[in-house]
Amino acid sequence: MAIIVQKYGGTSVGTIDKIRYVAQKVANRYKDGNRIAVVVSAMAGQTDRLIELANEMTPRPDPRELDVLVSTGEQISVALLAMALKDMGVPARSLLAHQVMIKTDDAFNKARILDIEVQSIQRVLDAGEVGVVAGFQGVTEDQEITTLGRGGSDTSAVALAAVLNAEVCEIYTDVDGVYTTDPHLYDKARRLDRISYDEMLEMASLGAKVLQTRSVEFAKKYNVPVLVRSTFEDNGGTLVTREDSDMEGVVVSGIAFDKDQAKITLLGIPDRPGVAASIFNVLAQNNINIDMIIQNVSADGKLADISFTVSLNDFAKAMQIVKAQGNTLNARDVLGDTTIAKLSIVGVGMRSHAGVAAKMFDTLSREGINIMMISTSEIKISCIIDEKYIELGVRVLHDAFELDKSGG
Ligand code: ADP
Ligand code: ASP
Ligand code: MG
Repeated sequence: MAIIVQKYGGTSVGTIDKIRYVAQKVANRYKDGNRIAVVVSAMAGQTDRLIELANEMTPRPDPRELDVLVSTGEQISVALLAMALKDMGVPARSLLAHQVMIKTDDAFNKARILDIEVQSIQRVLDAGEVGVVAGFQGVTEDQEITTLGRGGSDTSAVALAAVLNAEVCEIYTDVDGVYTTDPHLYDKARRLDRISYDEMLEMASLGAKVLQTRSVEFAKKYNVPVLVRSTFEDNGGTLVTREDSDMEGVVVSGIAFDKDQAKITLLGIPDRPGVAASIFNVLAQNNINIDMIIQNVSADGKLADISFTVSLNDFAKAMQIVKAQGNTLNARDVLGDTTIAKLSIVGVGMRSHAGVAAKMFDTLSREGINIMMISTSEIKISCIIDEKYIELGVRVLHDAFELDKSGG
């Protein structure tokens, strides 16, 4: 019997009726003779509401307590889905992270999965039950509750599929696949039949929240086929898989954007070895990820300016740290800017094509969009621009690279 892991996102389980509908879908697959583990997210809006409650209580909620709070969203939806399945005559069991032993590190609010003890979920499936597993949650060695970062249920599902050696991990959501860009932002976006792990990894880490980045890392590492599909429409979906010859020929396959970005600039710091290290070491110790960095040295070579980007979530904490560092280094000023965004093009075909960056910069400049920072890798180019131009930027790049046409 095939093992299938399915994951249903928040909008798919947003109401009692939708949960019943999902239960019916699971029941059909179960009755076809499959062994199924279902991972569910919290009901739509629930995680946001819980975070708001915490913020009403205190301006900087304790990270451990925040995880105890936000992990409850998934506890509600697994229980409800398991009830619905049982009502349909399907044996089912809701399972929280500590019962499946989804072990994580202790980075509260953005924990990483270290291991899943496959025996407990295997026992449930062997007993002929559907395992309804709470996404997003984990547990540390010391039995502390953690969560995996926003969108983390995708990662719970793919990690579970990996340890169960599942045939496929099906991600059910409110769009019917991975598109050339967010279909809610541009109606010319086109659904991709297949996308390579590497391209999906870039798209996700550059802001396409259809899959959490870490879920794609797991999928690639353990070679788990991931099928992104709509919960409510029966369309084909997108298969995230290994790169193959079918995928060649496309230079740019997608456009991603990320508005949850902020920029910090230190002006007039000494230009000598160890200065950058001193700033970024403290940020790293505080678990703050840095994305793009640029440094300019003044003409006389004595002073430098450094700008870098962090996620908006980390901005307040990062500013506090950098201001303190700025004082120690006698910086002329420390500036923060939360009105920036990152606009990126992604495609494995870029490896073998020249002129892609020039075309991107040219297209943006024609619209008067100023580029503040640039970073590139083999298969992506990202620009930091003013947040207010992000929609425009996505559209003009989508048109310029003709992404509405297949093979564009
Ligand atoms: P879920 O709650 O099911 O996990 P998410 O809201 O996390 O759903 O992810 C689905 C959303 O991702 C879509 O509604 C869409 O707006 C957004 N999205 C962003 N970029 C893309 C893309 N390239 N293709 C498809 N969806 C995308
Ligand atoms: N409920 C969590 C969130 O809203 C996890 C998820 O939906 O994947 O981020
Ligand atoms: Mg999601």
